[in-house]
Amino acid sequence: MSAQIISGRAIADEIRTELRPRVAALRSRGITPGLATVLVGDNSASQMYVGMKNKAAQELGLHSRQITLPADTPEAELLGMVAGLNADPTIHGILVQVPLPAHIDEGKVIEAVHPSKDVDGFHPMSVGRLATDSGDFFAPCTPAGVVEMLLRSGHDPAGEHVVVVGRSNLVGRPIASLLLRKGRGGDATVTVCHSRTRDLGAITRTADILVVAMGRPESITADMVRPGAVVIDVGTHRVPDPSSERGYRVCGDVLYDEVKEVAGAITPSPGGVGPMTIAMLLANTVKSAELAAAEARD
Ligand code: NAP
Repeated sequence: MSAQIISGRAIADEIRTELRPRVAALRSRGITPGLATVLVGDNSASQMYVGMKNKAAQELGLHSRQITLPADTPEAELLGMVAGLNADPTIHGILVQVPLPAHIDEGKVIEAVHPSKDVDGFHPMSVGRLATDSGDFFAPCTPAGVVEMLLRSGHDPAGEHVVVVGRSNLVGRPIASLLLRKGRGGDATVTVCHSRTRDLGAITRTADILVVAMGRPESITADMVRPGAVVIDVGTHRVPDPSSERGYRVCGDVLYDEVKEVAGAITPSPGGVGPMTIAMLLANTVKSAELAAAEARD
């Protein structure tokens, strides 16, 4: 039997629809949620991601400021730019697109973003609060998108055994931390796998929910999935395809055509986690503006 297809596009649309009245309420009080994106250099993938984020922000009625700096921008200048955005009351979210050019210390720049505007969720304060399940913080967008997809497609992870393949700081690790939290979207039993995991298939087959973020195209095959399991594919790749007009096709870390015949539910790639990442960025920016507005009122 073929799996339920979990559409990230449809769920992302639902989230944007829910954000509209919140944006309208803020705007009626003279506050337009503002997102600033900072891009250093001319990496074409980064340009595309930043363009998509700004377009989505504008479509939702947010104020979006796209700052593009040359690849040889000195680190001090970038830090000064971030400090200016921290102090700017019209900006509620700051996103510095990574990777940054090699001469810039990425960690220093991420730490320079004020935690109250860290809508990407990568500041050490946000990461620490997520890891210790304490205080208020912005959850990183792709991991938060994965959890939201599970909840909204009827697959609450509470009590389930979730196997996460991948332990990167950007994806695998924060997904595991979110799923381990107490309360909504958490309370799962989590196993994290990585490149040193012995007999990956033996572990993935024990998953009620399998989240794959390994950065290896089409590596999870049907024999690695328990029949009926929910499979979330975070991976996104362009692989050569001479039969396509563009010369490539986009795929995930999961061998989709094969795995969808075994899984109970599955996300496609493209059209799965990708659109959710942008929706969660918008949600974090609106939340940040609401928090700033509440603080100004108190
Ligand atoms: P990454 O930094 O390369 O991390 C990959 C992780 O997978 C590492 O922890 C690695 O283990 C593990 N791994 C690699 N080969 C493995 C194997 N054979 N068996 C088990 N584990 C293995 O990648 P990432 O940044 O986390 O991204 C993962 C994927 O998600 C990529 O395809 C990326 O393009 C995609 N992504 C999508 C979005 C979106 O919005 N859709 C956003 C971000 C990322 P080690 O730690 O041992 O090396």
